[in-house]
Amino acid sequence: MSNFDALIQDLVIANRILAKEEVVDAYGHVSVRHPENSNRFLIARSLAPELVAPEDIVELDLDGQPVREEGRSLYLERFIHAAIYGTRPDIMAVVHAHAEDTLPFGIAQGTKLRPVIHSGSFIGTEVPVWDIADNFGDTNLLVTNMAQASDLAKCLGGNSVALMRGHGFASAARSLIEVVRLSIYLPRNARALMRARQLGGEIKCLSPGEIEARNRGYSPYSVETWRAWEYWANKAGCSHLLTRPDDGRAHPPRG
Ligand SMILES: [Zn+2]
Repeated sequence: MSNFDALIQDLVIANRILAKEEVVDAYGHVSVRHPENSNRFLIARSLAPELVAPEDIVELDLDGQPVREEGRSLYLERFIHAAIYGTRPDIMAVVHAHAEDTLPFGIAQGTKLRPVIHSGSFIGTEVPVWDIADNFGDTNLLVTNMAQASDLAKCLGGNSVALMRGHGFASAARSLIEVVRLSIYLPRNARALMRARQLGGEIKCLSPGEIEARNRGYSPYSVETWRAWEYWANKAGCSHLLTRPDDGRAHPPRG
């Protein structure tokens, strides 16, 4: 199997994992930058992530338009991915989702989402909140064009996650495994923070030094990271699609 085909399978696995872990439902999507053309990315056609198969993956440019003739419907909010790849050359994978536990932190203006558990460290020290109303007034809250998506990407800046007021979040990382991991632990971290606030008293977040120490020890294809990917893929019923980075192929980048 070529590296490209393996990447497509990884993207299918990422879709199924995010569905199984309830980060996405009928809506929400994950993409990966094209490994040979940095001005393109790969994402499913408009389909619930749980149902995505390799033949559903399409190739889009950085305006969110298909590079080949495409009769099938595309995600309305695909522009989110296009704008983030366009502004962040370091980013190889993007998720947009509406995970319920993240929503309060985009709505309650006085409470910031911060990493409070070790696995939440990858959300970073700063999680900005983007409000579509600031520059676009009354909309249906969906990001349906490049102007809105670019505004969101600008708010994301150099961070890993931006919350979207009353809507969801966009997350970005250096690989598919990382963006999936980040997007799974983001709502979990949000839940822990919500519950801690209910208990009352001072909230102790991870310190910048702890976040840095966690990032220093992280490698996207380490045994420990692979263990999580394998676990999630198996749980999502798609372990048969797994290809180890060392399965007779060159090592990453696999996106
Ligand atoms: Zn959305």
